[in-house]
Amino acid sequence: MIQHATRVASGPAHRWQGAEVPYERPAPRQLVPYRCDRGHVFEVPFAAAAEPPGEWACRCGMLARLPGTAANGPGESEHDRCMRLLLLRRIPAQLGEILAEQLAEMAAQREGGTP
Ligand SMILES: [Zn+2]
Repeated sequence: MIQHATRVASGPAHRWQGAEVPYERPAPRQLVPYRCDRGHVFEVPFAAAAEPPGEWACRCGMLARLPGTAANGPGESEHDRCMRLLLLRRIPAQLGEILAEQLAEMAAQREGGTP
């Protein structure tokens, strides 16, 4: 049999007593990105109306966190953390906007700061 369905999560297969059960998507979903301390990034599907939990278990056994709630990684500065979280965003236009803001801010700091 051809497997044509793309599974969005590692949940149970849509089978019951060996027979394929028709699968209907019950509600719109949101894909929520998580990142664990080892750097694994993955997305977990939730119902669009659901509020995703702040932490989720990664496949490696570590706790993964929502971007924005993540603690700084080892040796990671605030700037590194911001850039990492920025890169998790998927909307290039938004990314460009934020990047421009950051660059302007850095330029202003450089001009006003000590040489
Ligand atoms: Zn992990």
